Amino acid sequence: MTTRHFCDHIISSLLLLVHAVHRISKGVILAQQIEHTGSFYAATANQTLDRPALSGDIEADICIVGAGFTGMVTGLTLSELGYDVVILEGAKVGWGASGRNGGQIINGFSREIGYIEEVAGPEGAKALASLALEGGNVIRELVSRYGIQCDLKYGSVLAAYTDKQVRSLGETKAMWESRGRNGIEMLDRRTIRDHVGTDKYVGGWIDHKGGHIHPLNLVQGEAAAAESKGARIFEQTRVVRVDHHLNTPVVHTEGGSVTARSVVLAGNAYLGKTVKQLYPKILPASTQIIVTEPLSDSLAKEILPTDMCVEDANYVLDYFRLTADKRLLFGGGTVYGGADIKDVEKALRPNMEKLFPMAKDLKVDYGWQGNIALTWSRLPHVGRLGKSTYFAHGYSGHGVTSSHMMGRLLAHALHGDASHFDVFEGMPARSFPGGQLLSVPLSTLGCWWYSLRDKLGV
Ligand SMILES: Cc1cc2nc3c(=O)[nH]c(=O)nc-3n(C[C@H](O)[C@H](O)[C@H](O)COP(=O)(O)OP(=O)(O)OC[C@H]3O[C@@H](n4cnc5c(N)ncnc54)[C@H](O)[C@@H]3O)c2cc1C
Repeated sequence: MTTRHFCDHIISSLLLLVHAVHRISKGVILAQQIEHTGSFYAATANQTLDRPALSGDIEADICIVGAGFTGMVTGLTLSELGYDVVILEGAKVGWGASGRNGGQIINGFSREIGYIEEVAGPEGAKALASLALEGGNVIRELVSRYGIQCDLKYGSVLAAYTDKQVRSLGETKAMWESRGRNGIEMLDRRTIRDHVGTDKYVGGWIDHKGGHIHPLNLVQGEAAAAESKGARIFEQTRVVRVDHHLNTPVVHTEGGSVTARSVVLAGNAYLGKTVKQLYPKILPASTQIIVTEPLSDSLAKEILPTDMCVEDANYVLDYFRLTADKRLLFGGGTVYGGADIKDVEKALRPNMEKLFPMAKDLKVDYGWQGNIALTWSRLPHVGRLGKSTYFAHGYSGHGVTSSHMMGRLLAHALHGDASHFDVFEGMPARSFPGGQLLSVPLSTLGCWWYSLRDKLGV
């Protein structure tokens, strides 16, 4: 190396150092880069884009915290309406539940319509019933409008282990139909075998308006659509504080801030204690997924002949489907509090093999877990803080459709029509009993009790 080259080298190293110190002092690279969990979805994602972190103080019409389905559909809808939207994501687009779920499009809510009528009254129940298919419709509309490649398929099966579960599904179907929701077909012991290759189920139903998707590709497609409409998305940008009491709320991140006319909190189970008023209302719970090696065509046809997704009617349920390249994706389990378990395959394989002994030699290629957000009522927790900060979360395990519906309702509320949003906001939202210390053990106990009842068939 010549003396000149040596000096150039020293100068450029010093410049890099000064730049790094400047970024650290702004808080931009203090945190480690957070990548997607090691899922099948991350391995087969359409995009591997890295977006910048927020650095400095900016303004926007709307600032959204969280780039999952809720945040993305809100942001996309508002961008389509001409708003200046900024979306802040602590990790990457779809890093949370939206990019790592079972991909099942399940219509309706995590509570039966009878309960909804009790807490929301007849008019509230009517409004919610009219939204039962909204989330699935929004998914199909966005996939078609923006040409999102996410392996969208039609049809979901809800499978029953006991006659009691079948009777309860029949009653639920009748209640939905009396409120205008159709597309559900009951299955008996014989006809469910046309869709699921196991003799463990005694019946169930097909929701022909259900279906399944590659969720990470869906949320990434929605992000690209929002950006095409002008939305700005910042990744690796954790929000640390939200001043929602101000007339014009301010969202603070590790490296800057966004002052916005309105704020939407869409961090769901991963919001943690960022906003202390919301923390007691939702309980994170982790659920796990494994994905096998690709099946032969004949084995795929034997296990899931009509390529629909399936979940069972138990309290702690199993859910499964084929991926586009014909792997068996099998999920289940619930750990209250959201802690990761050590060995996902060991936890899920026995249930998979009990249902499908013919799958016992299949190698598992992927295993991961993620957090859902439970509410005490199992209905979404939705509302406002201060004058113009909105939140929606707590879909209690069935959020693929609910998050899409809620994204639309949030956007409509911010655009001036809060009629449906207000119905959700008006529903009671209890904190979990036991507070910070006891909510997890108490919920675990309750879950154990309901699982025992399922096992005993009572
Ligand atoms: C393993 C698993 C399987 C599931 N399977 C199904 C299924 O098959 N069908 C179904 O209907 N539902 C399923 N769900 C539930 C469903 O995925 C969720 O309800 C839904 O995706 C929630 O979307 P969301 O946008 O509200 O939240 P998320 O997708 O969790 O997104 C929240 C985002 O906010 C970000 N964030 C949080 N706090 C901050 C902060 N302070 N600053 C910046 N960013 C922040 C997070 O990083 C995250 O990316 C499953 C969930 C899991 C975990």
